[in-house]
Amino acid sequence: MNQSLARTIHFRPQERNIFFHLLTACNLSCRHCYINPAQHGTGTVSRQTMEEWLTLFYNPAKESNVIFLGGEPTLHPDLVHGIRFARSLGYRSITIDSNGFLHHNLLDRLSPDEAVLSFSLDGPDPAVNDPLRGEGVFAVCRGNLEKAIALGFDVSVIYTVSSLNLNHLHRMPELLASLGCKRFFIQVIGLRGKSAAGGQGGLQVSPEEWLRVIPEVASNAARRGIHVIYPKVFLESGEEFQCAGLVAENYFIFPNGRVYLCPLCEDFPLHSHRIEGKRLVENEGITEKKLFSLTIPEGCVMNKLLQPGNIEYHADGSPRHRISCCLLKQELR
Ligand code: SF4
Ligand code: SF4
Repeated sequence: MNQSLARTIHFRPQERNIFFHLLTACNLSCRHCYINPAQHGTGTVSRQTMEEWLTLFYNPAKESNVIFLGGEPTLHPDLVHGIRFARSLGYRSITIDSNGFLHHNLLDRLSPDEAVLSFSLDGPDPAVNDPLRGEGVFAVCRGNLEKAIALGFDVSVIYTVSSLNLNHLHRMPELLASLGCKRFFIQVIGLRGKSAAGGQGGLQVSPEEWLRVIPEVASNAARRGIHVIYPKVFLESGEEFQCAGLVAENYFIFPNGRVYLCPLCEDFPLHSHRIEGKRLVENEGITEKKLFSLTIPEGCVMNKLLQPGNIEYHADGSPRHRISCCLLKQELR
C-alpha cells in the first residue's frame, strides 16, 4: 500500500478539543491501562463540577469538541446529564470513549443524535482481545456495539496496537465491515500508566513493524468503506514537525484538577494548568510548556525523553525518522 494515499489531518487552530476524564475508576483492568492513580487520583467529578468545567473550557469562538473518558466514563451516573449540558452550551461534537460495557443503561437513556460512541477492542476475537482487556470483555463489547449500531448510533472502534496484537490487526476490517461499523481508530500503545510501569516491557512495536502493518490494514479497511484514522508517528522527508502544545488547543482534564496539553506528559506532574474553583490557573516552574519549544532533530521532545526506543539513528548520529506529535493523525476513506 502506498502510504502517501493517506491524508494528514493537520492541526486546526480554530478547533478546541476537551478530553474530559470524569473519573479514574473502571470495571476493567486492562494490561496496558494508561490511567495512573498516583498522578490522576482516584476521584470522580461531581455533577456540579462537570457543569463548571464544561463551561470553563467551552469557547464560543472556537469549534469546541468534548470527549468524555475515564477510567470508564459510563460508570459516572451523571454522564447523560453532562452530555446534554455540553450540548446546551454549544459543543460541536460529543464523544464517549467506552470499554463497551455502557453502564447505567446508556443506550436506553440516550438518543443516537446526542453523542458518538467509541468502543475499545484490542483484538478481532476473544482469543486476542480478552488476555489484554479481560475475560468475557470481547463478547460484551461486541454485543453493545451491535446494539448501538442497530439503534442508529454513530460508532467507532479504537484498537490499541502493541506487540501483543499487531499481527491480528489485519483481521479487524472484516470484523468491522460485518458489524456495520464505519469508523476505525488505530492507536499506538504509549508508555503511560501500566505500560510504563515495570514488567510491561516489549509492548511497543518497531518502526518497521508499524510501517509494514498499519498502512496496509488501513488501506484494506478503507476499501471496505470504513473511515480509518491512525497516528502519523513517523514524519516523511520534508514534512514539517509541529507540536500540538504550541499550535493546537487540546486540554486533557483529570478529576484532581490537573490539566495537560500533551498526553505524553500525563505520567508526570508537568501539567501546564490546574483548575481552582471555576478558574483555569497556569502553573509556575517546569511544566510541559517549557518542553514544547525545545527543537531537536528527532522531532517530539517528549517522545525522545520517554520512548527513545522508537527512534533509530544513522551511523552519523542523525535520526532515521523524525517522530511526529502523537496527536498528528492520518486518515483514509
Ligand atoms: S477500559 Fe480503559 S480505563 Fe479501564 S482498565 Fe481498560 S484502559 Fe484502563
Ligand atoms: S506529543 Fe510531543 S509534539 Fe505532541 S504535544 Fe506532546 S511534546 Fe508536543
